[in-house]
Amino acid sequence: MTVTVATLGFPRVGPRRELKFALEKYWSGKASETELLEAAAGLRTAAWARQKALGADWLPSNDFSLYDHVLDMSVMLGAIPDRYGAAAGQADLATYFAMARGTTGAEDGCGHAHASLTACEMTKWFDTNYHYMVPELVPGQRLALGRLKLVDEYREARALGYETRPVLLGPVTWLSLAKGRGVDPFEMLDEVLGLYVAILGQLAHAGADWVQIDEPILVLDLDETQRQALTRAYAKLGRCNVKLMLTTYFGGLDDNLSFAATLPVSGLHVDLVRAPGQLYAVLKAAPRSLLLSLGVVDGRNVWRADLEALLDRLEPIAATRDLVLAPSCSLLHVPVDLALETKLDEEVTQWLAFAVQKVEELSTLKRALNEGRGSVAAELAASTKAAANRRTSPRIHDRAVAERVAGVTSAMRERRSGHAERTRAQAEVLGLPAFPTTTIGSFPQTAEVRHARAEYVRGHLDDAAYEQFLREETERAIRWQEEAGLDMLVHGEFERNDMVQYFGEQLSGFAFTTSGWVQSYGSRCVRPPILYGDVSRPEAMTVAWWRTAQGFTDKPVKGMLTGPVTILNWSFVRDDQPREASCRQIALAIRDEVLDLEAAGAKAIQIDEAALREGLPLRKRDWQAYLDWAVDCFRLSAAGVADATQIHTHMCYSEFNDILPSIGAMDTDVISIETARSQMELLEGFARYRYPSAIGPGVYDIHAPRVPTEAEIVALMRLAGRHLRPEQLWVNPDCGLKTRKWEEVKPAIAAMVAAARTLRAELLVEA
Ligand code: GLN
Ligand code: ZN
Repeated sequence: MTVTVATLGFPRVGPRRELKFALEKYWSGKASETELLEAAAGLRTAAWARQKALGADWLPSNDFSLYDHVLDMSVMLGAIPDRYGAAAGQADLATYFAMARGTTGAEDGCGHAHASLTACEMTKWFDTNYHYMVPELVPGQRLALGRLKLVDEYREARALGYETRPVLLGPVTWLSLAKGRGVDPFEMLDEVLGLYVAILGQLAHAGADWVQIDEPILVLDLDETQRQALTRAYAKLGRCNVKLMLTTYFGGLDDNLSFAATLPVSGLHVDLVRAPGQLYAVLKAAPRSLLLSLGVVDGRNVWRADLEALLDRLEPIAATRDLVLAPSCSLLHVPVDLALETKLDEEVTQWLAFAVQKVEELSTLKRALNEGRGSVAAELAASTKAAANRRTSPRIHDRAVAERVAGVTSAMRERRSGHAERTRAQAEVLGLPAFPTTTIGSFPQTAEVRHARAEYVRGHLDDAAYEQFLREETERAIRWQEEAGLDMLVHGEFERNDMVQYFGEQLSGFAFTTSGWVQSYGSRCVRPPILYGDVSRPEAMTVAWWRTAQGFTDKPVKGMLTGPVTILNWSFVRDDQPREASCRQIALAIRDEVLDLEAAGAKAIQIDEAALREGLPLRKRDWQAYLDWAVDCFRLSAAGVADATQIHTHMCYSEFNDILPSIGAMDTDVISIETARSQMELLEGFARYRYPSAIGPGVYDIHAPRVPTEAEIVALMRLAGRHLRPEQLWVNPDCGLKTRKWEEVKPAIAAMVAAARTLRAELLVEA
């Protein structure tokens, strides 16, 4: 029996983010279309050569994208919304980028904007931090095959001497991700399937033998429409002249297993990292004729695999049938190459594997299975040694942390008193007016702020000079907030690079890469912190800056922290203990910080949980368990304070209805949320649920440069007043202001403060 290796997809941005820079040059007009396309082709060639050299047998093509693979699929199917003015099947590069990013219209002499197009909606790809462009379908939508990028790229590889297995996003996943405006996307199933048949026909014609067809939707709870669509789809596509590797990832097939394993396809890929337990069920359900592809190394995380442990499981299987070994999912979600890291220390480095190293691991497994363990003895020994070291290293396992976690009591998650009493105590200390005004934390990260930070990181600016710079920025921000008439101030977060990284860098147990970029959307990449060990807080992290800021004013300045769940969800986390255990450790560290801020005199402390909702598991049956421990961890971080200390949180999204009881259970005193774009509709849910504490419904959308008027803010707040009692309401923007310019922030906040004053006057009249 033979074992081969597939990669399912390789990072597109390039080892040094070459794609990002090529795109930005093109968008700014400094490079031509030809130059952009040449750079992209160069990246594809390099990726094929690299994967081949590393020992991959099944090279992917069409895993590359100039922006997003879901958008690519939509464009190939001709699903282009009318507003972009391209007939179905006729999108050029300008249309493609208009869908991805929108266009900025020209301004005429009177400052009126013309013909600016909004981008397609963007949202998270399953439970990853990768964002895709949501396909948009309307009644009477015309679909037609556009230029078939995947056929072009298959041919391109072939001309270079690489036989590839094109990656095609499956029709049922594509339709499930699509948003129908006035139409159910599944009404278009047959039309879409017709186009898929044509695509597979063209691939076969070009010479493709196998196609990787991705249907990650198979790991979710499916409804009857989706099941029927899958049956119908694969009955049709299975008859095409290419072999299909039906590819599932991000979880187990569970109740969809027997269904998936009997679809008329030639191969099935399963994720054995997220769902190792499904292996034996898969083996039982999969007929001999089905080529199995086992996702055995983690495509979602940065840990090195324990190869001998894997071989123990794989050897008996490889003795009886052909196998493909692969990462659990595309390698899109991990950084490219560990060898580029120069600042990680040796001990941590030996625990890690990025995309390149993961393909190497797969090749080692392949050789061990095909030629015996002796053929890769050195590689196996190194892997075993690293795994053993990770199990015992004192860098990871900190006794003091374990003891502290063991000593957590449920009382530590309870505030001393209930809402009524706390509200009274806080009112006394803070003395805020009705409709208090505040902001979410950050102020513009101007070019000067970013430049100073870069100079500091490069060593061109010393500690004292950088501190001085930040001090001046902070003082200016405080003075301006006082003048603007805001009631509760913030220090502005000028010293922070990123709301998670800033804390990770000061906690033990986190490592940071220099080149570990992962695509977030389009040209945007992030470098997630690596949480490798037990977490503790060696010293206070934010108290000095809070103290500096409070020193400039008599008005209350909020302490500003990132919450444990958000720190967890935006990092690469340990796989040697449950997420919840890591979260609890972070919660204790944040708790220390909260108490230090309180001891320093902070009267209000905001603990941001921007990513709490997006951590929801893919299957609904797992939601409650996640929400329970997430809320528990938040409470552990917050509940140590006195009644008079006001705990705020902020969440920058608006889909709360299905998790309202958990939001309530966080037991905060004030929550600020995004509502401006939904016209306060969401507050209805809070009212129905009898949400007891205060809410700052974001009164304007900070994601756009537009400055709101006082009148529209008053109108929005009146809408809010229909659902909530006046004393429950705060007035604030819907998120931090770091991406805006001061010219936008100043008039917007002025309008907001004026609106609050108008509302207060109305309240007096009514009384
Ligand atoms: N306090 C943070 C800020 O204002 C919150 C950011 C966020 O919610 N994403 O920038
Ligand atoms: Zn936000």
